[in-house]
Amino acid sequence: MEVGFLGLGIMGKAISMNLLQHGFKVTVWNRTLSKCNELVAHGATIGESPAEVVKKCKITIGMLADPPAALSVVFDKGGILEQICPGKGYIDMSTVDPETSTKISQAISAKGGHFLEAPVSGSKQPAETGQLVILSAGEKELYDEAIPALNVIGKKSFFLGEIGNGAKMKLVVNMIMGCMMNAFSEGLVLSEKSGLDPRTLLEVLDLGGIANPMFRGKGPGMLQGNHSPAFPLKHQQKDIRLALALGDENAVSMPVAAAANETYKTARSLGLGDLDFSAVFEAVKGLK
Ligand code: NAP
Repeated sequence: MEVGFLGLGIMGKAISMNLLQHGFKVTVWNRTLSKCNELVAHGATIGESPAEVVKKCKITIGMLADPPAALSVVFDKGGILEQICPGKGYIDMSTVDPETSTKISQAISAKGGHFLEAPVSGSKQPAETGQLVILSAGEKELYDEAIPALNVIGKKSFFLGEIGNGAKMKLVVNMIMGCMMNAFSEGLVLSEKSGLDPRTLLEVLDLGGIANPMFRGKGPGMLQGNHSPAFPLKHQQKDIRLALALGDENAVSMPVAAAANETYKTARSLGLGDLDFSAVFEAVKGLK
C-alpha cells in the first residue's frame, strides 16, 4: 500500500518510519524539507509540496503542529486542495479543534475527495512501535480503506462517527492529561519543599489507586531535570486552550483545567515550550 505523509515532527517521523518498516511505500513532505532526508535513507520518496504528495498517493496522512499548520497544508499554495479529487483521501492526525477539522472536511468534500480526522493518543514511543490509540471520525469508507495503515500505526482504532468527534475526544483526553501532569508536578514540589524525599512519593504513588504509566515513566526523569521532548509543552498548552474553548461552547465549568492552562502558559513564557510537557514541573518549582 502506498501512502503520503505530511509533517515529520516527533510524531510524523516516528509514524512514517514505522509504516516504512512495515513495507508501506511512503511519500513524505515536511515544511522544512531537509527533515525528509532521514526518511529517504529508509526508502521514502519526497513530494515537493502537499499537492504533489496527494497527486502521487491515493491516501495521504497529515501530522501537523496545530490548527494554523493543519489549515496551511490544505488551503495554501501547493496545498492538498490543488490535487484532492474523487478516489483520493486525506487523513488528518493532528490535534486540532472541531471547527478546524470541519473546515478541512468541507473543503475536501467540495472537491469530491474524502476526509477522516484521526488524532492519536500516545506519544513518541508508542508512535515508533505502532501502539497509538486512533480516535477517528468522518467518512467510514475512508476509515475502512485505511485500516491496513491504521493497524500498523495503532494498537486500537475507534471510529467515533461524525467529523469533530475525534477532535473532541482527543481534547478531552489531553485536558485530563495536562491537569494530571500539573497536579503531579505540584505534588513533587510540595513533597520536596516540605522535607520529604520525592523519590519516595513516586514509590508511594505507584503502589496505589492513582498509579499510572505517565507518573511511572516520567517521574524519575523529571526529578533529574530531564525534559527531553516526547510531547512538547507548547502542544500540551494548545490542547488545554482548545479544550477550554470546547468547555466555553458547552457551558462546562473547568476551573482545574483553567488553572493548569495558566501554569503551562507560565512555562511557555519561561522558554520551556519546546521541552517535554513534564517541564511544567520547572515552572511549578519557580525555576527555569
Ligand atoms: P512537532 O514535533 O512540533 O512537529 C510539528 C510538525 O508540524 C512539523 O513537521 C512542522 O514542520 C509542522 N508544522 C508546524 N507549523 C507548520 C506550518 N505552518 N505549515 C506546515 N507545517 C507546519 O509536533 P509533534 O509532537 O510531532 O505533534 C504533531 C501533532 O500531534 C500535534 O498536533 C500534537 O498536538 C499531536 N500529538 C503529539 C503527541 C506527542 O506526544 N508528541 C501525541 C499525540 C498527538 P517543521 O519541521 O517545518 O517545523
